[in-house]
Order: sequence, then C-alpha cells, then structure tokens
Amino acid sequence: MEEKNLRFGQMHSIIAIIAMLSAIEYYIKDGIVGALVGIFVYAGLAVLDLILTKVLKQKTVLNNRLLIAIRIVEFLIASAYIVYNDSGVRELEVISFICLLLRMIEMIFLFDYSDRYTRTIIIGVMIFPITLFVLIKLLLLPQSQNYSENAVIALGSIAEIATVVCAVVFITNIFISWILEIEHKIFEQRRMAEKTAEMNETLTIHQEKIKKANEELGIQRIKMESANRQVQRANAEIKTQNEILLGVTTCLDIQSLADKVPEVLCDSMENVNFCSIILAPTSKKGNFVYNAKAKSISGDFLKEFTSTVINKGLSSKDSKEISIDKELAAPCYKELGEDDKLAVVVKLPLFNDKKEVGIIYCGSGIQDNFDESESLLKNIAAQVILGINNIQLYYAIRQMAVNDGLTGIFNRRSLNEHLAEFGQKAEKEKTSLSVALFDIDHFKGFNDTYGHACGDLVLQKIAGIIDKIADRNGGIAARYGGEEFVLAFPECDADRCEKILVDTKAAIDKMVVEYEEQKLSVHVSIGYSSYPSIRKNTNELLGRADTAMYYAKEHGRNQIKRDGSDVEEFESERNK
Ligand code: GH3
Ligand code: MG
Ligand code: MG
Repeated sequence: MEEKNLRFGQMHSIIAIIAMLSAIEYYIKDGIVGALVGIFVYAGLAVLDLILTKVLKQKTVLNNRLLIAIRIVEFLIASAYIVYNDSGVRELEVISFICLLLRMIEMIFLFDYSDRYTRTIIIGVMIFPITLFVLIKLLLLPQSQNYSENAVIALGSIAEIATVVCAVVFITNIFISWILEIEHKIFEQRRMAEKTAEMNETLTIHQEKIKKANEELGIQRIKMESANRQVQRANAEIKTQNEILLGVTTCLDIQSLADKVPEVLCDSMENVNFCSIILAPTSKKGNFVYNAKAKSISGDFLKEFTSTVINKGLSSKDSKEISIDKELAAPCYKELGEDDKLAVVVKLPLFNDKKEVGIIYCGSGIQDNFDESESLLKNIAAQVILGINNIQLYYAIRQMAVNDGLTGIFNRRSLNEHLAEFGQKAEKEKTSLSVALFDIDHFKGFNDTYGHACGDLVLQKIAGIIDKIADRNGGIAARYGGEEFVLAFPECDADRCEKILVDTKAAIDKMVVEYEEQKLSVHVSIGYSSYPSIRKNTNELLGRADTAMYYAKEHGRNQIKRDGSDVEEFESERNK
C-alpha cells in the first residue's frame, strides 16, 4: 500500500514537473504569469505531499487525514487553476486535468476508506463535482460558443465553493479528530498512571516481602554468626585441650607439670591473663610444687597471690566443683596496678579419685570470661590429673626398676650400677671406697617361729636403719637378696667404715620389732672390704665383703669382720 502510494506520488510529481516546465516555457514565450504561479504552487504541494508520504510512514487515522487534507488543497488549486485560467493554453489545462485525475484515482484506490464520512466527502461532494465541471470545460467549452463564459465561471465558482466548504468541514474534522486523539492519549496516560499506581502497589508489596525476607536473612545471618562463634570457641577449646594434653603427657616430673600448665593456659585460653597451679607431692618425701604465670599483671601481684592464697595449700577439701570467685584474689587486688586487668579468678580443684591433688587458679580481666567454660575447665582438670597419674605411674615403674619392693631401698640391679660408678670414680680420682655386706643371723628360724609377715617387718626396719645411716654418711643402702643387705660408702676408708658399721650393728641390735604383743630382735653378721687399703681392685670389694661375712658366720655370727689375709685363707680352705 505504502509502496503504491509512493509510486503514485512520484508519478504525480513527474507530471507536476512537466507542467511546471511547460508553464515556464509559456511564461518565457508569451509572458503568461498565472499559469506559472498556479503550476508552481501545485508542484510545491505535490513535492510536500511526497515528503509527507515518506515522513508520515505510520498509518494512523490522523496521518491519513492529514495527507487527504493536503491533497484536497492540491486539488483545489489545480481545479481553480483550470477554472480561472484565462491563458487559453490548452496543454496546461490538459496537464492539470491529468494531475487531477491521477490524484482522484490515488484517493479512490490508495486510501483507507473504511471511514465512511471521509469517503463521502471526498468522492461524493468534493472530487466528483469539480472533476465533472473541469471535464465539461475541457471537452465542451472550446467547441461551443453557446455557453456564456460567465455562466461557466459561476458554475465553476459554485463547485469550487462547495469544495472549499467541504474542505473546511473536513479540515475542522481533522482538528476535532486531533483533539479527540489527544484526549484519547490523555485517557491512555491516565490509564497508564493507574496501571503504574497498581504496579507501584504490587512493587510495595514485593518490597515488603523482600524486606521481610531480608529480615529473615538477617536473623539467619545472626544465627550463623553465633554458630560460627561457637565453632570458633569449640576450636579454641580443642586447641587448649590439645596443648594441655601434649604438655601433660610429655612431663615426667611434677615440677615440670606445674611449670607447663600455667604457661599453656595463659597462652592458649582466650582472655586469660593469670594462671597458677599448686600440686601435692607425689611421694612421701616430696614437697608441694607451685608455679604461676601472668600477662599484663605485675610481679608484685603474683607474690601477693602466692602468699595469701597458694600458701594455704590445698583447701578445697570436699568440694570438687569449680568455683568462680570474684573475691578470691581480692586481698591481692590492692597490689594490682592501673593497667593490670583481673576481674575474676576461677578456682579449679584437682581431685584424683577422692584425694585432692592440686588446685589451678585462672584469672581474667573480663568478668564473665569463664561463665561458659565449665566443661573446658573440667576437661583441663581431668587432663592435668591424667598428667599427675602419668607421673605417679612413671615414678612407680622407675621405683620398681630401681628399688626393692618390700623395703624401698635400692635393689640388687641398681646396687650393681652404683657400685660400678663408685668404683670407676674411686679408681680414677684415687679416693677410697668401702663396701659392707650384712646377713641376718638364723633368719630362717625366725621366720619359722614368728611367720613371714613378721620377718618382712624385720627386713623393712633394718632397711630403714641402714638407709638413714647411708644417707648420713654419703653412701647407699641396698637389699642384696633375701635377708642380705649392702652398704657402700664412697670416699670412705676401712677404719671409718668400721666405725659406721659398729654404729649400724649397735642400732640393729637395739632394734625391737613389736609383733603380736611380743618384742623381738635380731642380730646380724657383717663383712666388709675397702679400696685401696685392703683391695686394689674395686670390682673385688663386694665378693670380698661376702667372704668376710661368711667368715663372721663361721666364727660365731653376730659380729663384724674386716677383709684381710685371714679371710683369704678362710676362703682357700673353703674351696678345698
Ligand atoms: P644364717 O645365720 O646362717 O644366715 O641362718 P639363716 O637361717 O639366716 O640362713 P638361710 O640363708 O638358710 O636362710 C635365709 C632365710 O631368709 C630363708 C628365708 O626364709 C628368709 N628370707 C629370705 N627372703 C625373705 C623375705 O623376703 N621375707 C622373709 N620373711 N624371709 C625371707
Ligand atoms: Mg642369707
Ligand atoms: Mg641369714
């Protein structure tokens, strides 16, 4: 449709240009101005028509009517030119007529005449009368002089006026359509605004939903963060426990355990800036051990804490529970400097079975630092107790390897080690070494009479006596086997050794064992030898002491015998 329209427009323009050129020719030849002006206006409108056809591509009713309006004006000018042209140039009239015809055909065939009103105006009222008139003028006027010129002009004027009226009505109608269209647009815009409002409402609902979802997300995030914190806390606790476990399992004595625990707790527990430990001795002879460590706390505080709290020893007694004590360290607070931070001290008693074996104190500058740490503290306590048990076990195993089970003094194995060591030292440093061997007289009979339990008691008592004597004289006491004991004194010559043995024997002789309301006593036979005054080789000392002891047995028991030539003779006699 548009293409056809364009083609018509082009054809129309070509004819208009031909008409224009003819008009120019007549103007130059005969000076006819009217035709020139008419043709130019017509041609101009034709070109405008062409441009508009191109520009107003969109097929709206308004565009359509606008084109129709322009073509009506073209029509009017072309027809007016024919009607009022007095040039008498027939070619110009024919060309104009062709233009009219083309435009008419174009209007009839190319426009959308679904609008009945437009169709009636154009075909019935406007085009048809003027075309008819122009046709009559062209065909009839030149042949017949019977028609009066005035009548023709009057008829033409009536047709022209009718056309103008139609054109005005039509153009007014275009404006009305225009206004209606604008109103329609306003209405559309209102509808759009309403739609927009509706959409806005929907958007607000969506926004609220998103807001709610965001809030939900926020809550989830807070939950995640709290879970994360708990995981981090659990990780830190596991780390602390691992380090404690590593520390306690590597400690082989109670002091190094006491040194390790405060260090690990201060370093690995969050916000702990003070830690101390007091541990009960693991053996009868041992002492309490204590250690403390502090971060951001003055040394004076540690001293004060030690004297006011730690020196009281173990005081938890029956309470195995952890106590978070905000006043525990209060007497020492006065010692804290301004930068010191200690708001709470937790007391962690260490109970091994039912026996209190120690206390751990942990301090923090944050009051609620331990509020959620109960299980961690209990685990730490359990691990430290495990460490203590380990150490005790280690002591026991070592004791079993080194000491005699019944008497607690050195066993034969460790006696041999000590003797070898003493011997090497004595030979190297040219110092003396004396060794004595004891045997209880008639002990078999004693056992048979009073029983083995009573015999054990005797062995323990004698061991206790000789252990003390050994300690006093820088020597060692050992159970050699059965009811035989050994005393060894480094840097001790034969005379000094004899004096010690005399005292020892006197103490044993005096010893009374109370058993089942009986007061019992035993005697011993002792043989001894000495390096270098009697023997030149330290390896021989024990053997020689043994022989000397046998000598004593053979010579009436209950006596001390020094190694010497008579003992040697006695031995060679025995070996015969
Ligand atoms: P002698 O004066 O000749 O040394 O006489 P004796 O009876 O002591 O001699 P003997 O060596 O024959 O006996 C040693 C006894 O020591 C035998 C045993 O009953 C006792 N005995 C050894 N070891 C233990 C012990 O661990 N506990 C107790 N109660 N007796 C022991
Ligand atoms: Mg014996
Ligand atoms: Mg004996």
